[in-house]
Amino acid sequence: GAVQPLLAVEDLRAWYGHSHILQGLSLEVRPGEIVTLVGRNGAGKTTTLKAIMGLVAKREGRVTFAGADILHRPPHERFHRGLAYVPEERRIVPGLTVEENLRLGILAAKGAAKGAGRGARVTRRDEARRIEVIAETFPRLKQRLKQEAITMSGGEQQMLAIARALMAEPVMVLLDEPSEGIMPILVEEMFAQFVAMKRAGTTILLVEQNVELALDVSDRVYIVDGGAVVYHAPAAALRDDPEIQARYCAV
Ligand code: ATP
Repeated sequence: GAVQPLLAVEDLRAWYGHSHILQGLSLEVRPGEIVTLVGRNGAGKTTTLKAIMGLVAKREGRVTFAGADILHRPPHERFHRGLAYVPEERRIVPGLTVEENLRLGILAAKGAAKGAGRGARVTRRDEARRIEVIAETFPRLKQRLKQEAITMSGGEQQMLAIARALMAEPVMVLLDEPSEGIMPILVEEMFAQFVAMKRAGTTILLVEQNVELALDVSDRVYIVDGGAVVYHAPAAALRDDPEIQARYCAV
């Protein structure tokens, strides 16, 4: 039978002032999938993630996460339900070490547990265990736990932003252009980590310009153009379709 989607977006419309950006966009992500949104600059990919997270003031349509309609709920409620978001700008906290930045992810989780919570209080032992797990997953961060986060390279900071989101043990993560401005060797490492995250049970919705790499790790792909989905397919199908790639994915 059909698997229930974890995230279902139906006929999503969004506006910035009078500019109508999302024009009825629909997609779904099933539990355990990596799904990628690709498309030209200005197609509406970032706006899609922001609207899902409730960060675009004017939005209409339906967004269901784990069975609950969340589109018009306040942004923090998504976090309580296990939906995390790593925006393109990394928001590393200057003056704090890598480890302290990671602990901020836990603080957020503690705050969430107090609210509509996924229940469990995060104990100190839990906190130490999560840092250990993250350090094993991100060896580059493990070597730098005591380093001031802002002194790391852009790619390392991006990994920290992703790792910090994982500290709250989210069910699903939305990642906006994680490879932006990062040197290729680190990008490959990062994408390998996405596969590891998937294996550990985290569902991922990715926005990515690096189509080739994205296709390698993704289960399915949506092409966004003019604020709507113009094509969707298993990643392998798009990989074998240079014509579609050339038409919609050129930067
Ligand atoms: P990119 O890869 O360039 O980020 P994208 O597909 O993510 O492309 P969006 O950032 O979603 O595209 O932008 C979609 C459209 O919305 C663009 O035309 C952009 O200029 C416009 N837009 C984005 N943010 C705002 C804003 N805060 N106010 C007004 N218009 C905006």
